Amino acid sequence: MVWAKDVMEVLYLGCHLSATGGNAAMVRTALDIGANTFAFFTRNPRGSKAKKEDPADCARAVDLLKKEKFGPLVAHGAYTMNLCTREPEARAFAREVLRDDLRRMAGLPENFYNFHPGSHVGQGTDAGIAQIVDALRQAMDPGYPVTVLLETMAGKGSEIGGSFRELKDIIDGVGREDLGVCLDTCHVYDAGYDIVHNLDGVLQEFDAIIGLERLKALHLNDSKNPFSSHKDRHACIGQGSLGLDTFAAIINHPLLRDKPMILETPNELPGYAREIALLRSLVCP
Ligand code: FE
Ligand code: FE
Ligand code: ZN
Repeated sequence: MVWAKDVMEVLYLGCHLSATGGNAAMVRTALDIGANTFAFFTRNPRGSKAKKEDPADCARAVDLLKKEKFGPLVAHGAYTMNLCTREPEARAFAREVLRDDLRRMAGLPENFYNFHPGSHVGQGTDAGIAQIVDALRQAMDPGYPVTVLLETMAGKGSEIGGSFRELKDIIDGVGREDLGVCLDTCHVYDAGYDIVHNLDGVLQEFDAIIGLERLKALHLNDSKNPFSSHKDRHACIGQGSLGLDTFAAIINHPLLRDKPMILETPNELPGYAREIALLRSLVCP
């Protein structure tokens, strides 16, 4: 199906892609599945190993992204990177990983780097936030051409970022313009923000606490669990407790429709292509 040009350009939709074949290959894969943005892990998501840098591949990707009018990409930090873990040595390693990720993002300038703020593992929320702030200040200090995004979390265990207030405290502590938020629909619903019945109310609350100018990207995921369950299990679009109407409201919302939206649903590429087409079919002219 060929989409009207304005629909493609207004709605930046994509999914997580494998970075193993390089950056330019990811852009081509995205084009194949009807995407005009995408996410990728900067290193092994469950480890810490990163690929060798390839400036020529980055340059090819940058050219293609521009030519095909992609929206901003939303890179994702490793799940294992916990900036407020208890052991000082492990924490120092996580900080080094963050610094290296931000430095590497300079190869694909003017995109987003999103990560999970961290789990304080019993140190307490305030101590955890202080450690995250400290790590961000240090890693962002060189001013790389990347906007860093804190992901809204489900509030599972000792996870930080399950409330807008915690994210705001991190943002205030860091005190930079190039720090924003990526709103994950499954996570906020699991955290107790009712985007199914009161999307406008949740956005108003986001605006009052954080400021909507900080909202830079979305993760579109349905949820396998009920409202406020603090669980974080993603479902395919329309097949969970959020439902298709919620996603129609989100992608057509005047405050949201210009942001890059990334699917992190349990799919392989053909499933992602179908979900992207499904979402594009819901766009109101
Ligand atoms: Fe995430
Ligand atoms: Fe997410
Ligand atoms: Zn999740």
